[in-house]
Amino acid sequence: MAARVIDGKAVAAALRAEVAARAATLPYAPGLAVVLVGEDPASQVYVRNKERAAKAAGFASETIRLPASASQAELLALIARLNRDPAVDGILVQLPLPAGIDPQAVIRAIDPAKDVDGFHPDNVAALALGTPFLVPCTPRGVMKLLAAAGIAPRGARALVLGRSNIVGRPMAALLLAADATVTIAHSRTRDLAAECRRAEILIAAVGRAEMVRGDWVSPGATVIDVGINRTAAGGLVGDVAYAEAAAVAGAITPVPGGVGPMTIACLLENTLIAAAARR
Ligand code: NAP
Repeated sequence: MAARVIDGKAVAAALRAEVAARAATLPYAPGLAVVLVGEDPASQVYVRNKERAAKAAGFASETIRLPASASQAELLALIARLNRDPAVDGILVQLPLPAGIDPQAVIRAIDPAKDVDGFHPDNVAALALGTPFLVPCTPRGVMKLLAAAGIAPRGARALVLGRSNIVGRPMAALLLAADATVTIAHSRTRDLAAECRRAEILIAAVGRAEMVRGDWVSPGATVIDVGINRTAAGGLVGDVAYAEAAAVAGAITPVPGGVGPMTIACLLENTLIAAAARR
């Protein structure tokens, strides 16, 4: 039987509408400052989409663009100004940063109360300790997709493929907090296919086009594909061989239209959470 398709576009649209409705009840517009350094084409698209979504939700959103030649000191001075600005509830510095700027130094400079990406060590620690505040947007979006699809992590064997700070690690922490039995696999894992086959919930976040094959998927498993990979023909594919996996899985997210739309919706929600906590 073909897998149920989890419609990330629909879940994200509902979340964006809910965030906009909650924001409309506030006496102020939540403020989101997005900082873009340099002219990376993909980053420009992401930043434009974030600004558009924030404005559509009724937020006060500004994008601050610095040239690729900007120094780390200039960027840190800008962050210090945004940290002090009472109208700014959320600060997001678009990654990757140009060579010569230490991303960790930049992340550490953001006020943790305004860290809507959830990358600051204080927010990472809060998540690891089971007391999350601002949680990274993509794994947060995955948890919301699971909930919307009626898939309960409690007691389930979950496998997270990838251990990046942006996706894999926070994903594993969220699943653990939701009482899943969590395994984290990575490039040094001995038998990836066997690890994947044991999973009832399989989250792929590796950045390798269609690496997860249909015979890596346990019949009836839930497959969440975080990967976004550009093909030679200019299309987008995930980390999962979709047609093969969909023939075996119980539920699956497509690429595009799965996890991707959730990331921006969760950024808006994080900004609302930050605003509500500050004002
Ligand atoms: P990343 O920082 O490059 O991390 C990739 C992870 O995958 C690493 O932990 C790496 O293992 C592991 N890995 C790489 N090749 C592997 C292999 N052959 N076998 C097993 N593990 C392997 O990537 P990321 O930032 O987490 O992103 C992952 C994917 O998600 C990318 O396609 C990215 O575009 C996508 N993404 C999507 C969204 C969204 O909004 N949908 C957001 C963020 C990222 P090691 O640690 O051992 O090197």
